[in-house]
Amino acid sequence: MPDSHLIVESLTKTYPGSTASSVDHVDFNLQKGEMLALLGPSGCGKTTILRMVAGLIAPSSGRILLEGRDIAQLPVYRRNMGMVFQSYALFPHMNVAENVAFGLEMRGVPKAERADRVVRALDLVKLSGYGERRITQLSGGQQQRCAIARSLVIEPDLLLLDEPLSNLDAKLREEMRDEIRDIQARTGVTSIFVTHDQDEALSMADRMAVMSAGRIEQIGTPREVFDRPATEFVAGFIGAGNFFSGTASDGQADIPGFGRLAFSEPVPAGTAVRLLVRPHRIVLGDQGPNHFSGVVEHLVYRGQLLTLTVRVGERTIVADLPTHAGKLPALGETVSLSIAPDDVTLIGEAAS
Ligand code: ATP
Repeated sequence: MPDSHLIVESLTKTYPGSTASSVDHVDFNLQKGEMLALLGPSGCGKTTILRMVAGLIAPSSGRILLEGRDIAQLPVYRRNMGMVFQSYALFPHMNVAENVAFGLEMRGVPKAERADRVVRALDLVKLSGYGERRITQLSGGQQQRCAIARSLVIEPDLLLLDEPLSNLDAKLREEMRDEIRDIQARTGVTSIFVTHDQDEALSMADRMAVMSAGRIEQIGTPREVFDRPATEFVAGFIGAGNFFSGTASDGQADIPGFGRLAFSEPVPAGTAVRLLVRPHRIVLGDQGPNHFSGVVEHLVYRGQLLTLTVRVGERTIVADLPTHAGKLPALGETVSLSIAPDDVTLIGEAAS
């Protein structure tokens, strides 16, 4: 895409001494102002990508084009990147304002302008009036905001965040998600953040790249990735799922030990298919072509949802029901469950 702000092409990193590549021919691009999440299990290569984009480590091969210019071999100080780390990496011997001013000082910005920009950056992260405080006098969330102010004050070409919320407690994490998203939208800074938390990626990113073993399995909007996972890995990593293997015939699949499951995507008869049904798409009652009855074997109350495990034929199905939906099933009860054909997602097919 010619108007992409950032283009990453075939980016690869093989650390010295290892045979496998930690990042293996990764491609993606970012429009100006977009926020991309790199999501995946520990060790899949997220941080390595971020560090290569930042200039902290050199790629083994591949290109990183910022506004059309290849920066892959530029040292970190010649790139204009804002970085926020899990550990915050603030200077403890400096106060808040001095920390935020640091990057401006390094860039030789005159004192009066520096002071001005620090005030604006602190205002942006809701730390006005905290300039004179010592870092040790800030809470975890305030330290994180200070780190964000420090990275934004230089007006970076990219904001790079490595697990920015990992050190915060659950409640603060949720608040900071919204806050980071809000700051990012207000500044319009193109951003990449690394996380292993699917909720964080789903709620914060414009697009997310799901990674496994050094490769991007799928990249798309949170909704595309959640509703239309491209691979079984993505389907299993994001959200819960019921997976079915069967053989297609005329708009449905025959699932051994279970029965027939109608689905909407056209597939030639005889094709071996792998299908996904999200638990929250299953409803109580007999509706449409896909309805099944079975005995409730397990129940977990989760506040807004009740998770049922129901034995149907030789297998079990997991369904999430909203708890406000009238009378809820009990353990041992026989229930009817329905699945709309549109809610059966084809995630794999092979000629058989
Ligand atoms: P985490 O979520 O645990 O931080 P990650 O997805 O960010 O994981 P990376 O830190 O990028 O993963 O690591 C990817 C792979 O590269 C891992 O197998 C890791 O062991 C390896 N690796 C990372 N840094 C080095 C290094 N300096 N030397 C050798 N191997 C490394």
